[in-house]
Amino acid sequence: MEILRGISVTPGVAIGEAVILEAEDYRIPYRTVPEDRVAAELARLEAAFTQSIEELGKQRDYLNTHLGREAANVFVWHIGVLTDERLRESIESLILEKHAAAAYATSTVMRNYQRRFMQMSDPLLVERVRDVQDIERRLLRSILGEGREDLAHLTKPVILIAHDLTPTQTAHLPETKVMGVALDAGAATSHTAILLRSWGLPGVIGLNDVSTRISGGDPVVVDGSNQLVVANPNEATLEEYRGREAAYIRLSGKLSELKDLPSVTRDDQRVYLCSNIEFPPEAKVGTDKGSDGVGLYRTEFLFMRPEGAPSEDEQYEAYRQAILGAEGRPVTIRTFDLGADKYTQQRSYEQERNPMLGLRSIRYSLQNLDMFKTQLRAILRASVLGDVRLMVPLIVSLMEFRQAKMALHDAMEDLEEAGVTCNGKIRMGMMLETPAAAIQVKEFCREVDFMSIGTNDLIQYLLAVDRGNERVSQYYTASNPALLRALRDVVRACIQAEVECSICGEMAGQPLYTIFLLGIGLRNLSMAPGNIPEVKKLIRLVSTTQAQRVARRALSFETERQVTNYLRDETRKMLPEDPI
Ligand code: PEP
Ligand code: MG
Repeated sequence: MEILRGISVTPGVAIGEAVILEAEDYRIPYRTVPEDRVAAELARLEAAFTQSIEELGKQRDYLNTHLGREAANVFVWHIGVLTDERLRESIESLILEKHAAAAYATSTVMRNYQRRFMQMSDPLLVERVRDVQDIERRLLRSILGEGREDLAHLTKPVILIAHDLTPTQTAHLPETKVMGVALDAGAATSHTAILLRSWGLPGVIGLNDVSTRISGGDPVVVDGSNQLVVANPNEATLEEYRGREAAYIRLSGKLSELKDLPSVTRDDQRVYLCSNIEFPPEAKVGTDKGSDGVGLYRTEFLFMRPEGAPSEDEQYEAYRQAILGAEGRPVTIRTFDLGADKYTQQRSYEQERNPMLGLRSIRYSLQNLDMFKTQLRAILRASVLGDVRLMVPLIVSLMEFRQAKMALHDAMEDLEEAGVTCNGKIRMGMMLETPAAAIQVKEFCREVDFMSIGTNDLIQYLLAVDRGNERVSQYYTASNPALLRALRDVVRACIQAEVECSICGEMAGQPLYTIFLLGIGLRNLSMAPGNIPEVKKLIRLVSTTQAQRVARRALSFETERQVTNYLRDETRKMLPEDPI
């Protein structure tokens, strides 16, 4: 049994067999095994060679029959490499002498082999590097387990283990039988994490090397509540987790009973709880969980498909579906937040050197005005179908907001000329997610119809911590006193200016911060639909005077640890049975 600790994405427990998803650029970190595991690693290697030679033999015969001997020769060469005794002996001696894990030993020897080909002067032989890479992958696939890269065809529920997942891969997980996820990479507010949370899949990320510590077929527990992954659990541990799994199912049943109860504090203050969505059908999921509307629709996920940019009509259709799913409740459509870890990076020829500080969000839209206006037209066309609001992301300066407003007017004129009706008085707000916007909040309040605080980015930029980087994830926390004070000041300024203010970062859905957020005056929180019941439960247990007292105390602390401990104690007093 091996216990690995990472960062939690979604609470809950998933128990199942591991499937390893191979990343493109597969790197096997150095790992040794205890002496008594050496024989098992040698056996694993032996099995991988046998299996690979068998697979290659079949491919050779198939090509021979269908395309002739010359085509089949590629695989004859591969078989030749694998039957070379010296190669196998080099891998075996790394395992025997250095106690290296089979995957590491294979990867190391195969990479040396590749290097030898790369140094050759004959271009034909240099070409062989790709073949060697192919052979390495085949062996690793066999050593680390079956089933990778074929998620669409899984026949039974599994735990997905990978180095990392792109937001696009994550977007397709619900079409598969994956019931829990463990990743080497990632941090709590990366977009991959946000999507996992939306799907409600128990997940632990930022585990560093889980993809090489677990093999395909190993029994695994993903404990999303305690940030743990347990590989090869013993019978007692497995029993305990089966009990916890059942307890979670009971808890979600109890929480869903809250759906039709109003979201009010003990002193009858109404608190609006909205959904963050990435895909139009989630609006209906939110409605079914008792949401008051869509507080954030991340439209850039329309790009996460092989066809690329969505047309105006395709966008209109998506917005229409979301608006209908909200059944008359407000829908806040955020314009494309492209760049950083979303879409443009995967397609650009020259990668951003510093993507989080690069051409992203509103900057990207303003530099691609045709794309931006197409989106604005689609939103405006859909604006007559319900209570639609428009929001622009990552505003840093007043000029950016004004330019976005001008683009909106242009789009309105286009529609007017074409005789298409739209809501000419659509409310336009901004996401407050940069320190500059927080400092200039009073000026912004004069220009916007509403404000939505995006703490995911605000924390990133205020604390100078890349939100998607597991190496610095311990520095990324919403409990930082500077953040708490910034939030207090922003909310205060909005209340004074009578500008509606909501919060839609992940913090809004974390029960740990609910009382604090109420205490500084927020009455509108937007979160993954799955978080709504628990936050609602807490709101119904607290009064605003209690919340104000807690917020004042939280704001008096100097360190994040004090803040977290204090808020955890206060929340536990309210929810003694729930894991916080
Ligand atoms: C945020 O930054 O807090 C936010 C809600 O937007 P996103 O997570 O999509 O960047
Ligand atoms: Mg953001």
